[in-house]
Amino acid sequence: MLVPVRCFSCGSVIGDKYEKFRDLVQGGMKEDEALDKLEIKRYCCRRMVLSNFNVMDQLIPYAESVYRLKLQQEED
Ligand SMILES: [Zn+2]
Repeated sequence: MLVPVRCFSCGSVIGDKYEKFRDLVQGGMKEDEALDKLEIKRYCCRRMVLSNFNVMDQLIPYAESVYRLKLQQEED
């Protein structure tokens, strides 16, 4: 899923912080420290960032195969 722009519960903007959070965690920082550093303090917002899972990279191959199939059907 794409990162929601706002927290579903409180409406605080979080969409701009996810990439920074991901970079910090990939750099070896613990999740709670990264959330504190980005000043994401409410647990509803922390949940939004922590529970996000990016499935776009897994979905793209299926979308490409469907697109190729449509092209083949149009050629036939
Ligand atoms: Zn929130």
